[in-house]
Amino acid sequence: MADYDVIVAGGGLAGTVVAQSVARHSGQSLRVLVVDRSPRHMPGSKNVAGWICGDAVSREAVDYMSEKTGVRWGSPEIEHTVKGVMAFSPDRQTSIPFDGDGYMLNRQLLPERQNERCAGMGIEFRFGVSLTDLLHEGGAVAGVAGADTATREPFRATARIVVDATGMTSMLRGRLRCTDKIERRIDRRDVESTGRHIMYFEQGEEDASEFDPDYCIIHLDQDAAPGGYGWVFPKGRNKVNIGLGVEKTLLGARNRRMGRSDGVSDLISEYVARNRAVRNPRLSADPGDSSNATGNFQVSVRRQNDCLVAGGYMLVGDSAWMPKPLDAGGIGPALVAGAIAGRCAARALEAGDASEAGLWAYNREFVNEYGYKTAGLELFRRLIQSLTNEQINYGMRHFLGNLDVESISKGEHPDFGALGRLGMIIRGALNKKLAEGLRFTTRQNRWLTSHYYAYPESPEGFAEWRAKLHGVLDESNERLAAFMN
Ligand SMILES: Cc1cc2nc3c(=O)[nH]c(=O)nc-3n(C[C@H](O)[C@H](O)[C@H](O)COP(=O)(O)OP(=O)(O)OC[C@H]3O[C@@H](n4cnc5c(N)ncnc54)[C@H](O)[C@@H]3O)c2cc1C
Repeated sequence: MADYDVIVAGGGLAGTVVAQSVARHSGQSLRVLVVDRSPRHMPGSKNVAGWICGDAVSREAVDYMSEKTGVRWGSPEIEHTVKGVMAFSPDRQTSIPFDGDGYMLNRQLLPERQNERCAGMGIEFRFGVSLTDLLHEGGAVAGVAGADTATREPFRATARIVVDATGMTSMLRGRLRCTDKIERRIDRRDVESTGRHIMYFEQGEEDASEFDPDYCIIHLDQDAAPGGYGWVFPKGRNKVNIGLGVEKTLLGARNRRMGRSDGVSDLISEYVARNRAVRNPRLSADPGDSSNATGNFQVSVRRQNDCLVAGGYMLVGDSAWMPKPLDAGGIGPALVAGAIAGRCAARALEAGDASEAGLWAYNREFVNEYGYKTAGLELFRRLIQSLTNEQINYGMRHFLGNLDVESISKGEHPDFGALGRLGMIIRGALNKKLAEGLRFTTRQNRWLTSHYYAYPESPEGFAEWRAKLHGVLDESNERLAAFMN
């Protein structure tokens, strides 16, 4: 008999939600263990620098999680409320609102609260254990192995299901020996190098394009944050989460173009210094930020892993590359996926079938709820990353209609209806190319979305589905590269 019904590897944001969802959907009848490498006094931290994140999440995603798991978030894990996100063009002449009402979280205090709730639901925790391997038995995953980070004492535990929620740096995915459906590696260009500070400041100029206590601000700018964006997210009237993300190869190209040799931290310092609303900034020393005021980490910006399950194994959150390709928002999809994964795991165990086929419903339910849109957004992101600041200014000013803004607000690929209008005059060869690129990604997005809605109902149909997906993605990437060069 296995030691546990479910072992959740990684007790971060996604991991604790999975554990709570399993408990909820099994009436707390299953034995659940969460294993995390962080020490007990730093639960859920991503690395030694802390819980590095922009901290923003939409209310819709939190409500979804609460409804499915019965867990409600409040103070102190919700630090501040906002009315949405506002994305500014490089020239600041155009802004697009998206995501709607949302929260700024305290990522250091959130796991403490989550763990108290988990304990109340009978979920066990083991801190300070770094997992390095998966145990296999009978062609399926049967447990985890690693070592205590302090004593180096080996750790092994068996389970009917292992949920991999170990985040962006997951080692476990690479140790899978029972499936060829789950992708193991990610393309370097699908990763953003990011960093941020949590700071107090004195109010400088009143300028809502620099700081707004009611809106999370995003600055698109290929010089300041090549292939990514800068952000100024309010945590109060004089407190801010400020940082940026870049794509490393595009940063290299930007440095060559500008005769510079900047790294991510240099860009962040420059971005903070340039902000006219943020005067005399200093790192927060609040108790809830004590180990978390500054740091860099990585985040993926592609579609989720093509397959999220194997026999006895499920992937969730950043270890499944779930952050949204357009803005790297990973908290929302982690909440959605965590709630679904927990329910599917509980159902599979109740049916006595934790095989690949028994867990397959998780693939379909996540795709139907969220994952249907991510491949189209991945292409859209590639296109945007290849643009100049002038093209972004022009495109945001002339190509986005009300319906497009609404689609972006829902996190979906816009239709760019205006581009189909007869007689629309587009000035400049580069902008004509951009229009062509947008028409192309819109067309591809329609195909990709319907392909995801036809995600196979069982493992049998997967090989054919994946071959078609990769055929279209490869061809699309080639066409996009040709358009924009
Ligand atoms: C700079 C930055 C800004 C971001 N801003 C936003 C934002 O504003 N909004 C948003 O929605 N998303 C944002 N994201 C993404 C968001 O932070 C992640 O999507 C989210 O934290 C994912 O949660 P997770 O539980 O999957 O992974 P994590 O939060 O990384 O948790 C993983 C857990 O697993 C543990 N672990 C890792 N390896 C092992 C191991 N080998 N053994 C045992 N335990 C292990 C870790 O200690 C950690 O507790 C940002 C990311 C970065 C880097």
